[in-house]
This record gives sequence, structure tokens and C-alpha cells, in this order.
Amino acid sequence: MPLRSELMPVANIIRPRSVAVIGATEDYVKFGGRFTHHLVELGFKGRFIPVNPRRAEVLGHKAFPSILELDEMPDLALVAVPSDLLRQTVDECGRAGVGACIVVTAQLSEFSEEGAALEREIVEVARSYNMRLVGPNCMGLIVPPHGMGLTSSQTLRYACRLNSGSVALVSQSGALMGSLFAVATDHGVGLSGMVTVGNQADMEMCDFLEAFIADEDTRVVCLYVEGVKSPDRFRELARSAQAKGKTILAVKAGATEAGTAMARSHTGSIAGSYTAFETACRENGVVILDDAEAMILCANIIAKNPPMGPGATGIVVSSGGGGAVLIDRLTDKGVPLARWTEATHQRLDHDYGSGHRNNPIDLGAHKGKLDISVFRRAVEAVYEDPGVSALFYMMTPQPLMPETIDIILDLHRRGDKPVVLCLNTSRFGEDVRQQVLAAKMPFVSRNDDAARALKAMFHARDFARTGPKPAPQRPAGTGGAKAGRAGLLTEPEVKAMLASYGVPQPAARAARTAEEAVAAAKDIGYPVVLKGVAEGVVHKSDLGLVKVGLADEVALRAAVAEVAEVFAREKLGVPLFDVQQMVEGGVELIVGVQNDASFGPQLMVGFGGIFVEILKDVAFASAPVSPAEAEAMLKRLKMWPLLAGVRGRPAMDVAAACEAVARISWLAADLGDRLVDIEVNPLKVTPSGAWAVDGRATLS
Ligand code: ADP
Ligand code: MG
Repeated sequence: MPLRSELMPVANIIRPRSVAVIGATEDYVKFGGRFTHHLVELGFKGRFIPVNPRRAEVLGHKAFPSILELDEMPDLALVAVPSDLLRQTVDECGRAGVGACIVVTAQLSEFSEEGAALEREIVEVARSYNMRLVGPNCMGLIVPPHGMGLTSSQTLRYACRLNSGSVALVSQSGALMGSLFAVATDHGVGLSGMVTVGNQADMEMCDFLEAFIADEDTRVVCLYVEGVKSPDRFRELARSAQAKGKTILAVKAGATEAGTAMARSHTGSIAGSYTAFETACRENGVVILDDAEAMILCANIIAKNPPMGPGATGIVVSSGGGGAVLIDRLTDKGVPLARWTEATHQRLDHDYGSGHRNNPIDLGAHKGKLDISVFRRAVEAVYEDPGVSALFYMMTPQPLMPETIDIILDLHRRGDKPVVLCLNTSRFGEDVRQQVLAAKMPFVSRNDDAARALKAMFHARDFARTGPKPAPQRPAGTGGAKAGRAGLLTEPEVKAMLASYGVPQPAARAARTAEEAVAAAKDIGYPVVLKGVAEGVVHKSDLGLVKVGLADEVALRAAVAEVAEVFAREKLGVPLFDVQQMVEGGVELIVGVQNDASFGPQLMVGFGGIFVEILKDVAFASAPVSPAEAEAMLKRLKMWPLLAGVRGRPAMDVAAACEAVARISWLAADLGDRLVDIEVNPLKVTPSGAWAVDGRATLS
């Protein structure tokens, strides 16, 4: 009989009333010693219970010889035993009524088959006692408001104290938590909690994400993700965070193949498709960043600033050259820059010449004598410009640094709009860094991080306007997708499915002989296209199975002979032909849906043919989509102007294209688990319609 009748709430893991440290010792060199010291010295608000058969007490706290002999059922037990003792230890914790085991022991599922088996076993054991399990292969957690440094990371010694605030982190990497803790300390980032989840054998990222969304202290949650265990829950939580006005930032490993391999060996996570994760984030308001350190700093800026209103960025710098490079950087990242109003220009006229009073303002380029009131007038004019949604000040070594920082601190205190401060001052600026830290104003030290923070804020603002991806309405006449045999389907098989979902396609007829082909072409009307239909062929034209632009019977008969030859040469069996109406002119799109193992069907649209491979000009969304969403995707393409009409080229029938894309996405979604992938390449779009001229699909 388990001592606990139900699972302990996750909030109790973050703020435990008591923590038993198995192997607690004064010896800092030992693993258990580091946990012990950090927990005791940083002012843990709960009860610390050392477990050690060789000690009567540890750092002044009464020790117990075994977890089975405690005088209470602790909320947490820290388990960092060697793997051969792991099963027994977890079992003893269960028998002692522990609420949750924090399992630091590594080399389990991320390491070997035996490790994976042991990991499954300890989860079963824990569940049999209604005990939760965090990890294994985790590094514990740091919860400043609770005075809790339950981690072996030595960055805690370096920090000396914990800084409470409203930024939370859930990390699959333990060591990364340590280094981000150090970055946070250097930049005065106040934390509501940092949790490492390791292999997520029992408790996973979403459990803590949910807890931090509910946590009153937390405003921004940062995620370091290798693999998402429950994608639907992740999407739902992202939406609920939005609704509560909280921001989620995420960095995910596995944007490259090398990164994916590294993540897999690190926590045993199948990193899943990066693109699918990115799509889930974009559609549900999670801001993706490409750097974990930047994520913590951005979180701080978001947490300690008001939400961004309308307008664009107003920039003040103290180096003309630095400012020029900075503007390139910001523009590159898609951060919009404000144009001053006439009133702002007039205010700036007093101190700056006409060539020096545009966005960005270089403080040093003022007229007349150097005087701090010049700086104040300029910075305030920019901050107060109604077209400025955020003030960005980049400080490089300059005269009057502390006085200038005072101006920035004043504006930050006003709190009308976000103020982003970048201290590009190296060690030369240590005094002002201390000044900023003391005032608890967020800042970054690299321009790139400022650009990322601004981008994240614009992203959050724009998302708040549009909201999450709406549930699309089923197009008329779709539903009940009929999937036939498994495997790679032929073009006519795929087209039959597409036709049942109302996706337009050119008239086509099967033929076995030249006579049948000629008869078909007569009905369809020249010019026609002739294709050879053979199972197992992925790219028909590579083999010479596609003959386009056949103007008359002579051309058609020649094409039939050639295609028949290919069948013989490639041993494709008895030739089967498909005679198709030729869709002339227009542009060729590729429309594909891949069924992601964790995130489900993922739609991709782009310009077809060689453009996909060379330009990678594609856009993604989760399927199904509405025609409006399809249009938004097409508008994200660099080559969108080719559809919209450019330089005398006619506009294409975008509405027909979007309708076709939406219907293809519904077919894919309705195929459910049967779908591996489906691709229409090309969807030919002309000024008068859109047609699927090819189709390929793999079903399971
Ligand atoms: P593959 O298996 O090689 O992709 P496709 O059926 O896509 O074969 O044909 C190759 C190319 O021929 C297409 O990309 C398109 O440019 C052209 N094509 C094929 N069918 C038609 C058609 N019915 N009308 C116009 N062009 C076509
Ligand atoms: Mg094709």
C-alpha cells in the first residue's frame, strides 16, 4: 500500500516544505556535498533533512541513517546514487512516502538499452507508490523565492545569493541551467525558478510549464527543449499562457542534423522535426530564439518592461559607427525602425543639425558645448515620440556615462513603453553596470541580444493582435478520405484522392495502347501531356516518363513509343499511359504535407521545381489550413510577387490556389495515421485557375 493516496501537486516540487538529501555531507568535493551546501547556504525556506548513516548531523541539521527512518514524509528526495543502487533507492523513497524523487543519476535511456530498461523500471516503481519522479539525468532545481538551490551546479557558489524575480526556466539540460544561472546573475535577472527535467521519464517539460504559468511570481517562462513529449498539451499551454498575459520563449536543439544527433545522445530525446516545433510555436505565440543566453536576457527585458504598444523602434546611440552597424543588424532581424514626427524633429533641432537628427540619434554628434541636458533632451524626445513603441539605447564608452544612464533609468521608471538598454562598454563600463544592476533595470551586453529582445517584443505584440491559429472550417464536399493500399501511390491513385476532395486537376485518361491514347487526346483536345504510370517511380521525368506539349497525333504517337521504350528499359512491366490536358503558362507551386511523428501533419508550400531545392523558399503551417491561412503562407514567400503580378506579368488566380492548398491540407489531415506524406508538385497556378498536375503520396 503506498503511503500517499494521491500525487503531490507540481507546485510542491517547486516549493517543497522539506527535502531529504540522500548522501548529504559537508564535503563539497562530493556530489551530495554540493547539493547540501547550496541548499543550506542559500537560505532554503523549507526543512533540509540529511540522510547519511555515517553522520549524526550535517551542517547543523540532524541526520537520519536511512530514508526509511525519517520522522516525516518529505516532499522531495534528492537521489544521486550510482545506477546499481538506483532501483532500490527509488523503492525506499516510495516506501518512505516521498512526494517526488529528483533523480540526478545519469547514463540511463540516453546511454544504453539497459539504461533505458532501468529508467522504465524506476518510473514504474515510483508510480506504484504515487510518487513523482523528475529526471533521471537532471541537475535539480533552483527556486530563489523559496531560497532553494537544489543543484550541484557550482555556479551557485559563485553567485553567493539567489535573486528572486519573474523569469522561469524549464531546461532539458542540467549544465545549461547552471550557465544560464550565471548569466542571469551577471545581468541581474530575477528568477522565479529554474527546473531541469533531464530525460523526462516521468515528469516532463509541460508539467513545469503548466506550474509556472499558474505561478503568480512568473511572467516569462523560458524553455530549453530537446524533445517535446506531449505536443498537444504544449500547444494548449502556450495558448493559456497568452490568455494570462505571460510570455513563453523557447530555444530548441536540433535545427541542424548535427544538433539533432547531439540532443539525442544528451537526454535520449528524439528531437522531432525542428520545423514542426517552430510552426507549433509560431501558431501559438511562443517566441523561438536561437541562443539560450539571449533567451534569459530577453526574458528579463520582457518581464521588467510594459507590453509594447503601436509604433516602431526609436534608437539612441553614443557611437555613429556602432549605430550604423547596429541599424544593419536590426533591419536584418526584421526589427522595424520609427520615423520621427515633425514635432520630434523640432525638439531635436535645438541640439542637432539636420543631418544628425534622424533615427538613430548619435548623442555625440550634437551642436555646441557638451552638457548632459543635451543628452536628456534628445533621449526624452525620442522616448516621447508617438511613433516610437520602444526606446533602444546603446551605450559605448563615452563622456558622462553615469549621468546618461540616469536619464535612461528615469525613462525606464516612467514605464510608458519598453526601454532596451545595451551596455557595449566592456570592462570600461563596470561602474555603470553596477549602477544599472542596483536600479534593477534589465540590460544586455551584446547588440545581437538587444535585437533579439526587440524582435521578441514585436513578435509578442503582433501575436496578441492576431491571436493563435484559428480552427479552420472544413471546405464543402470534403471528408471521409478513402485511403487505399499502403506504400508509394501512383499519380492517378493520388489524383483520385485529390479529386474526391475537390482539388481541380487537368482532364486525364488512362490508355494502354497508342490507339487508346490518340482517342483520349481527341476527347481532351491538343496540346496534351503523356505520362507513363508505373509503381515505385518517384520522379517520372527523371526516367523520361513525362512528355509535355504534344501538339498533335504525330507527336503523341512518337511520345507513346518513347515512353514504352522506357518501360522496357527500366523493366517497369506492361506500359500504362496517362493522357492529360496540358495546363499552359502560369507558375508552379509545390504543396506538401508530412506527418511529423510528434506534431502531426505539417503543410509546406513553396515555388516548385528547382526553386524549392535552390532557394528553399517555403512556408510552413500545421494542417489543415483555411484558404486565408494558405494565402498568408504564400505571402511569406520571397517569390510571392510572381503570384501577385509584377513588372507587367499577370496576376495569378491566388484564390483558386489557396482553395486548392486548403483542400489538400484537409485531405492530409483526414488521412490521419495512414499518412506518411503527400505532395502535389506542381500545383500549376495560372491567371484563370489552379490545377494539381502531379501527385505523389506514401501511406502506411
Ligand atoms: P515528376 O514525377 O517528374 O514530378 P510531373 O508529373 O510533375 O512528373 O511532370 C513533370 C513536369 O511536367 C511538371 O513539373 C510540369 O512542369 C510538367 N507537367 C506535367 N503534367 C503537366 C500538365 N498536365 N500540364 C502542364 N504541365 C505538366
Ligand atoms: Mg512532379
